[in-house]
Amino acid sequence: MKWFNLLQEKTKIWDIREMLETLLAALPECSHVAVPEATEQAMRYYRSGNVLWFLGQLWSLGVPLLFLVSGFTGKLSALSQRWGKKWYFTIVIYLMLFILLSTLLNFPLDVYAGFFREHAYGLSTQSFGRWLGNYGKGVMITIISAAAFVWIFYWLLKKSPRRWWLYGAFVSIAISFFMMLIQPIWIDPLFNTFGPMKDKGLEKEILGLAARAGIDHGRVFEVDMSQDTNTVNAYVIGFGSTNRIVLWDTTIEQMKPDEILFVMGHEMGHYVLHHLWWSLAYFSVLALVIFYLIYRTSNYLMKRYSKRFGFKKLSNIASVPLFLLLITIFSFMTDPLSNAISRCMEHEADRFGLEITQNNEAAANAFIVLQQTNLANPRPGLLYKIWRSSHPALGERIDFCNSYCPWNQDQPEKYGKYFR
Ligand SMILES: [Zn+2]
Repeated sequence: MKWFNLLQEKTKIWDIREMLETLLAALPECSHVAVPEATEQAMRYYRSGNVLWFLGQLWSLGVPLLFLVSGFTGKLSALSQRWGKKWYFTIVIYLMLFILLSTLLNFPLDVYAGFFREHAYGLSTQSFGRWLGNYGKGVMITIISAAAFVWIFYWLLKKSPRRWWLYGAFVSIAISFFMMLIQPIWIDPLFNTFGPMKDKGLEKEILGLAARAGIDHGRVFEVDMSQDTNTVNAYVIGFGSTNRIVLWDTTIEQMKPDEILFVMGHEMGHYVLHHLWWSLAYFSVLALVIFYLIYRTSNYLMKRYSKRFGFKKLSNIASVPLFLLLITIFSFMTDPLSNAISRCMEHEADRFGLEITQNNEAAANAFIVLQQTNLANPRPGLLYKIWRSSHPALGERIDFCNSYCPWNQDQPEKYGKYFR
């Protein structure tokens, strides 16, 4: 009631405003960078992106369901057996046919989302030939990795019908570690050229920052992404000797040196705080849970529907779409948790980047460049955050830059112990 009376009187409103202003002034203000309003085009990209994402989810359920419910997977497996004769070749032929057929079914959505839509929004710089070539390479890599690894799971299914899920989870952890190890040296170079940084002055500054972060043999690679996209990015990848920070050349073109230094500080945060190892640890737990759930549900579904699916045993390679369907469902259910964990690590990497550069304004401006060049919505909706955001919203990241500077307030830095 008191507040209501206060608001009734115009003069008192000024008092409240003054009070709020004094309160705000007392809060730490480390920079004053306003979050830009999302452009109309960015909002269209955001909304249509949500529709597309939803369609993609339905599609990744629909394609394996089609193979199962029609019983086609059973026929495909029988055909592969006739052609392959031996156990391993049967598996490889089935996988090749399955991957090629599902690629055909996915192609319309892929070409729209990956090529036409990106061009319509001015985000892509790729020619259609280059896009198609990269798409083809992606399919080849899928076929080769499937031929190299999938038989292990089917061998386990055959040998140990009750424990395959446990051993399978361990195998998938080992495979994902192996893939993360080789990706920067064997896979990524198939698509782009990775080389030393061209701007030697900037490289020296980055290596100086790396030395301060306690990274001695810092490896920074510049990649020629400008032939594919106008968007900006940087990331950490690899383990041990293949570990590196990769900076897109578009980032170097679009950002000022002190903004790039913050981005690198963020990436160094991932490295120093061992985020790749933590991700692998999380993935290991997730793999165990998902494999167990798949074990339980696949046996149940086989009991009820094996006639319709057209195969009798899970160890038949015809069960591939059933496993894919269950992986899609369980990943969808666990994505909110995976995203929340990723957002946590990203936030800590932001803190690390701020603490090591102590340049809040440059950091906030880097996020503005990210928002504007990548057509991002700085304040996405709740569902988007829960299911799709591996990073905190850009608006929140800029807010954090504006409010976090313990070094100005005689407070200890959280990661000061890592700095030299
Ligand atoms: Zn990050």
